[in-house]
Amino acid sequence: MKAVDLHDLKTAYAYKSNADLKLTHFVFNTLQKPILLGLLKSCANGIVKYNLPFQSIIKKTIYKLFCAGENIEEAFKLIRYLDSYHVKSVLDYVSEGEKTEAAFSLNAKTILENVIRVGKECPGNYISVKITGLEDPDFLGKINSKTFPINNPRFDKLLERVDAICNAAQKHQVIVYIDAEDRYMQDIIDAITEHMMEKYNTQQVVVFNTLQMYLKDRLKYLEGLIATAKQKKYIAGIKLVRGAYVEKERETALKEKRESPVFDTKDQTDKSFNAAVELCLQNHALIATCIASHNYNSTQLALDLMQKYHITDINKVRFSQLYGMCDGITFNLAAAGYSVSKYLPYGEVKKAIPYLIRRSEENTSINGQVNDELHRLQKEINNRKHH
Ligand SMILES: Cc1cc2nc3c(=O)[nH]c(=O)nc-3n(C[C@H](O)[C@H](O)[C@H](O)COP(=O)(O)OP(=O)(O)OC[C@H]3O[C@@H](n4cnc5c(N)ncnc54)[C@H](O)[C@@H]3O)c2cc1C
Repeated sequence: MKAVDLHDLKTAYAYKSNADLKLTHFVFNTLQKPILLGLLKSCANGIVKYNLPFQSIIKKTIYKLFCAGENIEEAFKLIRYLDSYHVKSVLDYVSEGEKTEAAFSLNAKTILENVIRVGKECPGNYISVKITGLEDPDFLGKINSKTFPINNPRFDKLLERVDAICNAAQKHQVIVYIDAEDRYMQDIIDAITEHMMEKYNTQQVVVFNTLQMYLKDRLKYLEGLIATAKQKKYIAGIKLVRGAYVEKERETALKEKRESPVFDTKDQTDKSFNAAVELCLQNHALIATCIASHNYNSTQLALDLMQKYHITDINKVRFSQLYGMCDGITFNLAAAGYSVSKYLPYGEVKKAIPYLIRRSEENTSINGQVNDELHRLQKEINNRKHH
C-alpha cells in the first residue's frame, strides 16, 4: 500500500465538478448560519408535518449533498461513478419513522432486492440495515434484552426478515452493516446481530454489528464480543462509530432520572473510540473492523496500528464515511489502495428528512470539524481557479 496523505485536496475532490464543489461549500456555509439553518429545518419539518411544497429547495441543496437519489436507478448510477474512483458504497434505503406492518414488510422486501442486485451488478459494494426500518422502536424497546423473547410471533417475524437479508447477503457475497440506534433498544439489536454473525460469519465476514463508542458500556461489550467470537468460532464484524444521538440520549436519561449512558465529554468519547480501534486491530485474527468516522486523528491512528500489528490484508480494516462528508479521508485512502466506502442513503426526500436533520446538526460550527472542511473546500475552489 502507498503512503497516504489525507490532506491532498486535489485527490479528495477530483470526483466533484466545479459546480458541485461550489454547491458543497454553499450548503456547509449555510449550516453555519443559525438563521439559515433554522429556515432549512423549518422547510424540512414543514414537509413532514404539513406536506408543504418545500421539497425542491431541500432536494437541490442538502438532499443533493447527502443523498444518492430518490430511486434505486439513481443510486446505482452513483455507486458506479464512485467505483470508478475505487470508492465502494454502502447502499442505505432510508425510510425512518415508519409505524405500520405494511411499511416494515415493504422495507424488508426492498432491502432484500437491493442485496441481490448489489451482489449481481456491483460486487464489492455493501448494504446497511436499520432494525427500526423493519420494526417499531416502541416494540423493540419493550422486548429490549440480551436474550430473545420466547413465544413472541412478532419478534420471530422480525428475526425471519433479518435472517432472509443476511442469508441472501452470504449467497451473493454482499456485506451487511447493521446500524446502531438508541440505547434503549440496542441490547436486542446486538442480540439479533450476534445471532446472525454466529450463523453467517463462519468462513468470511458477512454481517457487521455497530458499536457506538460514546456509550460508557461499549468497551466492556467489545471485550465480551471478542471472547464470544473466539469461543463460538466466528469472525466478529465490528463497525466502530462515535454515535449520532448524544443529545437525545442525555435528554431521555434526564427525563427518566437515570445516569446518561453517554460519556460527559468529547475527549472521553475520543479515548473510548481510539481504545476500541486498538483492541480490534490487536485482535485482527478474530475481527474484521470498519472504522466509520470522519475524524482525521482516529483514521491516522488506525493506519499506524495497521503497521504496528502488521496487517496487510486491506479487508481486515475497512474505512467508511458518509456521502457528502470528509472526502479527504475517503478519496485519499482509496487512491492509496485501502478498502474504503461511502454510506449512500437513497429514497424519497420526505423519508430522508430525519437523516438530513441529523447531518445538518452534525455540521454546525459547534459540532464536529466542519470549519476545517469549509476551509478545505474554499482552498480547492481557489486552487482550481488558478489552474
Ligand atoms: C460510515 C458511517 C456510519 C455510521 N453509522 C452510524 C450508526 O450506525 N449509528 C450511529 O449512532 N451513528 C452512526 N454514524 C455517525 C457517527 O456515530 C458520528 O455521529 C459521526 O460520524 C461523527 O463522529 P466522527 O467519528 O466522525 O468524529 P468527530 O466529528 O470527531 O466526533 C463527533 C462525535 O463525537 C461525539 N461527541 C461530540 N461531543 C460530545 C460530548 N460533549 N460528549 C460526548 N461525546 C461527544 C459524538 O458521538 C459526535 O457525533 C455513522 C458514521 C459514519 C461515518
